[in-house]
Amino acid sequence: MHADIIGGGLAGCEAAYALARQGIRVTIWEMRPDKQTPVHQGGDLAELVCSNSLKSEHSDTAQGLLKAEMTILGSLLLPCAQATRVPAGSALAVDRSRFSRMVTEQIEAHPLITVRREEITTIPQAPCIICTGPLTSAPLAKALQEISGAENLYFYDAVAPTVTRVSLDESIVYKASRYGKGSADYYNCPMTREEYLCFYEQLVAADALEPHAADREMVFEGCMPIEFIAQRGVDTLRFGPMRPVGLSPVEGGPRPYAVVQLRQEDKEGQLWGLVGFQTRLRWGEQDRVLRLIPGLKNAEFVRYGVMHRNTYINSPRCLSPDLQFTTRPGLFIAGQLTGVEGYMESAASGLWAGLCLARWMQGKKPLELPETTMLGALIKHISSAANAKFQPMNANFGLLPALPGKIKDKKQRNLAYMTRSLKHMHEFSELLQNTL
Ligand SMILES: Cc1cc2nc3c(=O)[nH]c(=O)nc-3n(C[C@H](O)[C@H](O)[C@H](O)COP(=O)(O)OP(=O)(O)OC[C@H]3O[C@@H](n4cnc5c(N)ncnc54)[C@H](O)[C@@H]3O)c2cc1C
Repeated sequence: MHADIIGGGLAGCEAAYALARQGIRVTIWEMRPDKQTPVHQGGDLAELVCSNSLKSEHSDTAQGLLKAEMTILGSLLLPCAQATRVPAGSALAVDRSRFSRMVTEQIEAHPLITVRREEITTIPQAPCIICTGPLTSAPLAKALQEISGAENLYFYDAVAPTVTRVSLDESIVYKASRYGKGSADYYNCPMTREEYLCFYEQLVAADALEPHAADREMVFEGCMPIEFIAQRGVDTLRFGPMRPVGLSPVEGGPRPYAVVQLRQEDKEGQLWGLVGFQTRLRWGEQDRVLRLIPGLKNAEFVRYGVMHRNTYINSPRCLSPDLQFTTRPGLFIAGQLTGVEGYMESAASGLWAGLCLARWMQGKKPLELPETTMLGALIKHISSAANAKFQPMNANFGLLPALPGKIKDKKQRNLAYMTRSLKHMHEFSELLQNTL
């Protein structure tokens, strides 16, 4: 048995290793070093293109929990990261080049894995996993567009910040429709004139990120950063995304001068995105300025806004929960291409795609991860999100189904999530080994 993996990045290496551990021969096709992306610099596999941090290791954080689950499933990358770590407090940060070198050596030394340095420009025959990442080369992106439909492949992220519903101040925010049309589906954060002006001044003065090399050519296509809109004049936001049109005042209260609306992002209604608030502000600045919005003072931001070059497919429309293309049996997609966001999320999705493809090749029935695990919740989100415009997602506790009882203390709540997730991941790992 043999499978092809296209892209030797974080997802590709985990996928190849997972397949090889099942006794399946694998060829990884990687276009570097002959052809580079705008941000990769070397020829090693699993190159970290920007930060050297793989984020927290504490399993009472979403990132730490994801790592603990990956360890249970047999990750290749995590032991390499631990062996090449550099001091970074509670974060798992690595010496970038030693990390990639070590992953490359382990992959190249594996008797069942071959690495071919070649760009792939068409969709290969099954069985195959495509994981060419946010900077997938143009010919392959075009081929992906052809099989998924032009409207189902995106070339940039314009993500607005997301908060959890439990962290909203419900004595201030209230449900209503958008512009007075349809049902009361939006949470509204109403602002007085004074609150609006204070927010506006802080927004225009806040520090934004310089675009990365890969982002300079990015076209906003009518999706402008909120701080850009604000720079055009004090009232532009009030006549744009913060327009209070059709919004009745709360009983007895003043008519809102401006409003920030929140739209539901997941089926369970735990995650809410700030409508029209795509931004390039630095995360610390987002955290500071957005808390000035009435009702968001104590908000839990599970994701900050980002705007950058990316390539990802509309996974809820195109993929099943085993990351298999619904219209192409044996073709799997992994990594950032699926709409997961971040180094570890990409690696974890590669690990999952590798395990699923192995089962498919062995004629075993597909399994679904428990949605109570961080990886299961993430995969469920990307393969079934209800949002009209699917947006990439990182690991966060807001994705997990609510716990049976309400736990007010955040740390205790996260610990309870962690205990449940790890128990279910251990059970799942046994099931994975024992089922046909
Ligand atoms: C500018 C930028 C900065 C980022 N910074 C961060 C950060 O700081 N932290 C974070 O968590 N995430 C960051 N990300 C996201 C990060 O890229 C992903 O989280 C992660 O690298 C994705 O893993 P992947 O395996 O899907 O893709 P990659 O790791 O990018 O791997 C894809 C591989 O496929 C190869 N490839 C592409 N096309 C072809 C082809 N046609 N044929 C053969 N090979 C091909 C590429 O050369 C590459 O090696 C950043 C992304 C970008 C674009």
